[in-house]
Amino acid sequence: MDETPQTISCRCCIVGGGPAGMMLGLLLARAGVDTIVLEKHADFLRDFRGDTIHPSTLEAMYDLGLLEDFLKVPHQELRQGEVKIGDVTIPFVDFSHLPVHAKFVALMPQWDFLDFLADRAKRYPCFRLLMSAEVDSLIEVDGSVAGVTAKSKDGRLTIRADLTLGADGRHSLVRREAGFMPLEIGAPMDALWFRLSRRTIDTGDFLGRVDAGQILVVFNRGEYWQCAYVIAKGSADRLKAQGIGSLRDHISALAPFLADRVDELQSFDDVKLLAVAVDRLPLWHKPGLLCIGDAAHAMSPVGGVGVNLAIQDAIATANFLAAPLSGNGPLSDQLLAQVQKRREWPTKVIQALQVVVQKRIISRVLGGTGKVKPPWFLRLFIYFPILRRLPARLIGLGVRRERVTSPARAIPQAANHPP
Ligand SMILES: Cc1cc2nc3c(=O)[nH]c(=O)nc-3n(C[C@H](O)[C@H](O)[C@H](O)COP(=O)(O)OP(=O)(O)OC[C@H]3O[C@@H](n4cnc5c(N)ncnc54)[C@H](O)[C@@H]3O)c2cc1C
Repeated sequence: MDETPQTISCRCCIVGGGPAGMMLGLLLARAGVDTIVLEKHADFLRDFRGDTIHPSTLEAMYDLGLLEDFLKVPHQELRQGEVKIGDVTIPFVDFSHLPVHAKFVALMPQWDFLDFLADRAKRYPCFRLLMSAEVDSLIEVDGSVAGVTAKSKDGRLTIRADLTLGADGRHSLVRREAGFMPLEIGAPMDALWFRLSRRTIDTGDFLGRVDAGQILVVFNRGEYWQCAYVIAKGSADRLKAQGIGSLRDHISALAPFLADRVDELQSFDDVKLLAVAVDRLPLWHKPGLLCIGDAAHAMSPVGGVGVNLAIQDAIATANFLAAPLSGNGPLSDQLLAQVQKRREWPTKVIQALQVVVQKRIISRVLGGTGKVKPPWFLRLFIYFPILRRLPARLIGLGVRRERVTSPARAIPQAANHPP
């Protein structure tokens, strides 16, 4: 292979083709910004990622004129959710009153979501998506980030860019290379993810089961239930040592309707461990570089809002930067600081709420052995349905919802109707 690096120049280089990177790529391409997204994997096929598309993201699709087409992609619609704590079932969330066009959470494999964004972005000639391109370092010139180097299937790449975006997730190389140190907030739990088949007689779209020392959450994914079994942090090895039979027993006890299919878990190979991390960068930017999404703030799985925040970051970034990036002028660090200023507050608020739930509910449940009883305030949700609108707002729209205000260029006719 030719070892001479190929050099490509662009206005904006986005590291990572996850929800944050692909949404930002689409928005910048739509504004006519010469944009390259580098994704280290060959495709978007990754199982057990955040598969929840929240009402705020669906509303962004509406803003972009894409909602109708997007909802043609196979998905399930989660409109309400309940949690069973001990013996008490509490309907705790109802999205049907949200002031948006799609009053539900769409459950869709993340790869279908990302494929959809990539397909739309590729219709703009100023957009390039380089798959199997793994960024390994930042290029710095006079204290400013001026692009990245990457290894790709065609050899080494040098990407020179006026702005580099770190959208490379919770294990971000970009933030490490930039010398950014996250503030570790921590979490008392990890989660085991797996699938169990769903029968036609099964009811409900989202079910939570909480009891002595354990928590199980299941989402309706059509032919299967996507399940998360929440365990105390660092206890996965202990559970594994007890054998897969022990996990099957726990699930059957928590959700007896799954007992007839827990044998589908043949070994721990069918189970994926999500080591939960919650952190936040005190500084998201330096000259020529900005981090967004999980790279700027890894979220707790409480509320399933990681994808939502990543998308909201992308929208805010495009709202501030798309217009200046579509010109040729330099991009000031103050402009990058405005993005952090805008998105740091909602991140802090949601993380603070997640920490309260982690400390007051999850830690107590996982650390306990006796029968669990719901706290009194949660019982109110049974009698006052209006209360279910509050979690719907927080989970579905978040705080400080972003609307797409970045400029749009027309798609060239030839690209508008791909084969
Ligand atoms: C098991 C699991 C379940 C989850 N469930 C939910 C859920 O139900 N709901 C929810 O909202 N959130 C969930 N999350 C969190 C959610 O997936 C993330 O918050 C969200 O995907 C963050 O988006 P992002 O674009 O910032 O980062 P990511 O989705 O992590 O995307 C980063 C991308 O960068 C690429 N990349 C990394 N390093 C490099 C590099 N050096 N060069 C090039 N590319 C690189 C990665 O391959 C990846 O595609 C879950 C996470 C996990 C792990």
